[in-house]
Amino acid sequence: YGDASQKIDYVFKVVLIGDSAVGKSQILARFARNEFSLDSKATIGVEFQTRTLVIEHKSVKAQIWDTAGQERYRAVTSAYYRGAVGAMLVYDITKRQTFDHIPRWLEELRSHADKNIVIILIGNKTDLENQRAVPTEDAKEFAQKEGLFFLETSALESTNVENAFLTVLTEIFNIVN
Ligand code: GDP
Ligand code: MG
Repeated sequence: YGDASQKIDYVFKVVLIGDSAVGKSQILARFARNEFSLDSKATIGVEFQTRTLVIEHKSVKAQIWDTAGQERYRAVTSAYYRGAVGAMLVYDITKRQTFDHIPRWLEELRSHADKNIVIILIGNKTDLENQRAVPTEDAKEFAQKEGLFFLETSALESTNVENAFLTVLTEIFNIVN
């Protein structure tokens, strides 16, 4: 992992998008600070958080942007997407509707962001397996069809969160190198 004192070779902006309450802010808290909170406070204030890591001996500062409660369709502004080289498209595996809205988010993303943006689809809250409403296969099929990476995560249990960010950041790294 990153030694924050070293020089930065790359800064990669990655945006989190998806319906409200799917766990975007907690995924970010887990990645940036290794924290998790069960309070569902709406996201306030902070635009992004950073974490520096090392990929192939280069230091990469990941600048991860979180929506400040603008999850309504079309409320996320183009400034949010500007300069983004990666995107995490998040739904909640226990809420079918949040998965059904993914094509809209993808359309939003594709109309605002750079066409070469690296996108990962994330099904969050795998710790609630007994409440699952979205079969893994459905999401996998959709991701394959749309050319997206795909992982299921639990911000609560810290499952695959690191892996999800590393997947996106490593792919971006490989594109720019
Ligand atoms: P956001 O609106 O997409 O930013 O969602 P939040 O990160 O605020 O999370 C919404 C609610 O879901 C909060 O109560 C979180 O504690 C909870 N949550 C987030 N991630 C998980 C997870 O992986 N598992 C469970 N069980 N709850 C989660
Ligand atoms: Mg939030």
